[in-house]
Amino acid sequence: MGTTPPIIGIDLGTTNSCAAVVESDGKVKLIPYKGGDFTIPSIFAVDEKGHELIGHEAKRQWQLNPRNTVYASKRLIGRNYKSEVVDTMKSLVAYELKEGQNEVLIDVAQRSLKMSEVAARILDRIRNIASDHLQEKVDRAVVTVPAYFTDRQRQAVKEAGKQVGIDVVRIINEPTAAALAYGVGKGLAERVLIYDLGGGTFDVSVIEIRDRVFEVKATGGDIFLGGLDFDEAIIRLVLKDFEARHGIDLSQDPVAMQRIKDLAERTKIDLSQRTEASFHIPFIAMTPQGKPLNVEMMFTRKLLEQLTGKLVDRTLQTVAQVLVDAGLSTRDIDEVLLVGGQTRMPLIQERLTRFFGKPPSKGVHPDEAVAIGAALYAHSFEDDTDLKVQLLDVIPMAIGIEAAGRRMHVVFPRNASIPNARQVPATTSFDGQQEVVVRIFQGDLPEVQHNELLGEFTFGGLPAGPAGAAQMEITFDVNIEGILTASARDLATGRQMKTTVRVTSA
Ligand code: ADP
Ligand code: MG
Repeated sequence: MGTTPPIIGIDLGTTNSCAAVVESDGKVKLIPYKGGDFTIPSIFAVDEKGHELIGHEAKRQWQLNPRNTVYASKRLIGRNYKSEVVDTMKSLVAYELKEGQNEVLIDVAQRSLKMSEVAARILDRIRNIASDHLQEKVDRAVVTVPAYFTDRQRQAVKEAGKQVGIDVVRIINEPTAAALAYGVGKGLAERVLIYDLGGGTFDVSVIEIRDRVFEVKATGGDIFLGGLDFDEAIIRLVLKDFEARHGIDLSQDPVAMQRIKDLAERTKIDLSQRTEASFHIPFIAMTPQGKPLNVEMMFTRKLLEQLTGKLVDRTLQTVAQVLVDAGLSTRDIDEVLLVGGQTRMPLIQERLTRFFGKPPSKGVHPDEAVAIGAALYAHSFEDDTDLKVQLLDVIPMAIGIEAAGRRMHVVFPRNASIPNARQVPATTSFDGQQEVVVRIFQGDLPEVQHNELLGEFTFGGLPAGPAGAAQMEITFDVNIEGILTASARDLATGRQMKTTVRVTSA
């Protein structure tokens, strides 16, 4: 073993996080937490005494302390307060969101935190567990992000690492990591489809594996579709049934809700193994006369499937779209890889079997593949490695600049390969104009206000002249991590100006 500590792989999940490392014997292993778990909930909370809680401790008190318990924060990282995602999140979460400088902030226990600060705490916890386990200082990691993450979100994750002294050596996409876990060192020539249904998000990618080359063909997903929606279907039925029986609305009682949510998730998970599960919560409420009331229900797998079949349909529509984007049909896919806890649901496996005409692969572990792939990739940076892989990824959503009438002028279309660079001409639009402001957006909608603002830069110091006289060329460069740099050149003077489109929160 070398003297430098290993680079670990971290799957910073929306719901659960996980880490892995290639150990000195060359084998890749997950890093265990206390109690033998390999994942920790990606939840951060501040309790009433002001103590910060992370992981299981934070999850346990979630419904009792909803104001100060932050979950699914990954959806918010690197986003502006005024964005459609933030609007949707406001209606879903009990914690307070507010406007910061070009980014959304959360208010917990009278403190305002940036999303990168929440991610930093979770990364720090994972790193400390890894350090304890390996008995070595750990300060470098490969961190995975969803394929659909924007440039700003990627930079915010890097920034989160920096805040706690972790050098994020490389950001890679979760499905790419899963494909690495499946295919490294096997000399494959296969096209795989990664179907990743986690707690809060759905992600699908088609990846072509040619021995050491992993090339993403297309990617898509839905950031508001995941296991939580399956739990919600159970919760809604329990609340409705209880209200019909006893005339009491339990949704107003946080303690009752904590118990119902916990049991709903456990029941859903049980029903992946069994065909029936009882749903019993004693003493959940009292009648006005003081008589205790219980929840007494039975759930069958069939009922769960009826309640959630529409959610599965939605995932298959996305799969179909991604195949269209990749220019492929179901027959062109050699293996379907299942990633994410929710893919253990038998209905999902059945529907995919019908869709593709063959059962999904058992080749990767749904909870572990992403961290394993990240660790394998991390190992490829070590000096003593014999593992060399090449990742060819794509841009998940178009990147473009604001044009007249607030229209999106697309520079890189969705699924453009990365690394990639493109030039766009620019000029002044009125007489005497001495600076040009370029606003860069990411998203697939034709009007910029529906897309995410990545940043803006100003190219100043132009000689005053008539509109259209200045001739500039703007170069957009997206590196292998999906991070964008823009530079502009005045073609008359050759003067150059460069900017990384910074996460303004950094
Ligand atoms: P993420 O990638 O979003 O962090 P995970 O991949 O860890 O999330 O998936 C978490 C989700 O998987 C949760 O909603 C959880 O309830 C669900 N889940 C875990 N095990 C099972 C199971 N056996 N059957 C159905 N759902 C499951
Ligand atoms: Mg995941």
